[in-house]
Amino acid sequence: RLVLGIETSCDETGAAVVSTDGRVLGEALASSAAIHAQWGGVVPALAKGEHEKAIDGVVDLALSNAGVSASDLSAIAVTIGPGLSLCLRLGAMKARELARQHRTPLISVHHMEAHALVARLTNDGVNFPFLTLLVSGGHNLLLLAHSVGHYTQLGTTLDDALGEAYDKTARLLGLDLSKGGGPALEALAREGDPQRFKFSVPMRASKTGSKTCDFSYAGLKTNVRLAIESEIPGAEQRPLADVDATERQLRADIAASFQRVAVAHLEERTRRAIGWALEQEPNIKCLVMAGGVAANKYVRESLTRAVQEGPLELTRREVKLGMKRKEYTPIRLVCPPPRLCTDNGVMVAWAGVERLRLGLEEPPPPLEETDHSNVQLRPRWPMGEIHSKSTTGVG
Ligand code: ATP
Ligand code: MG
Ligand code: FE
Repeated sequence: RLVLGIETSCDETGAAVVSTDGRVLGEALASSAAIHAQWGGVVPALAKGEHEKAIDGVVDLALSNAGVSASDLSAIAVTIGPGLSLCLRLGAMKARELARQHRTPLISVHHMEAHALVARLTNDGVNFPFLTLLVSGGHNLLLLAHSVGHYTQLGTTLDDALGEAYDKTARLLGLDLSKGGGPALEALAREGDPQRFKFSVPMRASKTGSKTCDFSYAGLKTNVRLAIESEIPGAEQRPLADVDATERQLRADIAASFQRVAVAHLEERTRRAIGWALEQEPNIKCLVMAGGVAANKYVRESLTRAVQEGPLELTRREVKLGMKRKEYTPIRLVCPPPRLCTDNGVMVAWAGVERLRLGLEEPPPPLEETDHSNVQLRPRWPMGEIHSKSTTGVG
């Protein structure tokens, strides 16, 4: 059986056809990132316009790449949240229109769940329960994944997500944002000295701050901005290509130092979460890392080390039991290939497969429904509230 997945939650228009036995038959992707680059963030109205232009072509291309037609599909899966409602609506309407026409069941997909579940398509042995770290433009989450639709949140960001911090820092450093701030900053950081700037690791060992698995990147973002303003004023206005070697080195050193500290925070929180997770679910065998930032090679290497090292400290219960050190068998780090870490249609199609296997599809809209604009969306949708039942309004 075949599932079409449609993704339009942010600035990528994605579609893909995946079979229930886990073969990616065809995919297509269009991105409006280059258009938003000049505005300092995704502009919802612009993104909506680009989805509108791209959606039919992207869906057709995914189908034709797969060599199938819409009438061959067993279900159509679509992201209904979290994301920008203007953008989500475009994908959801397209899905309903196809579903109505071809009498195909619909499946509502949670964008972040799709980021996590795609690891079960690309890697063997990713069985529930597992720990997952989702790092993207809008989210920084540590979750215990119990089963499809069931997640316990161990940590989240108190302010910004790491992807947002990468994007902001890349902008202030005058990098070319047309392929995204994250990849540009990662590339420049490779030329830099990560120890030159001693930014402090967020929320570390403060007496007042409790030992949590939560993240905070706003403070680091500010410290990096202040460093840029004092060391290289006006950097944002001068493209990297136009500066001399000394200034290029300075920018690279800031980029590398930012990345080192940002990822140290990610490692610390994740190591603590490994301890928490194993306490609740001793059978956990892997950490799934996904979302756009998981495409980053330095991040992947750092997290490989984090799972080797294991829990940051003993939990309170272990201290009470008089344990001196943790018994820890390293869990495995699993990351989807980089192109499936950033937004794409494959992950949505796969999340659809996972739900279809559980019988969680919904009937197609009635034949007489011609206006599909009344779709139900969940622009804000906590992972703890997904559950197994779908929530799309069915006519
Ligand atoms: P969300 O998934 O939270 O709704 P989103 O869908 O916009 O947000 P993704 O497409 O999953 O986010 O990821 C995009 C983010 O990932 C951007 O902030 C981007 O800078 C970041 N990113 C992509 N590649 C890299 C990289 N190589 N290094 C660091 N960050 C990266
Ligand atoms: Mg994006
Ligand atoms: Fe995403």
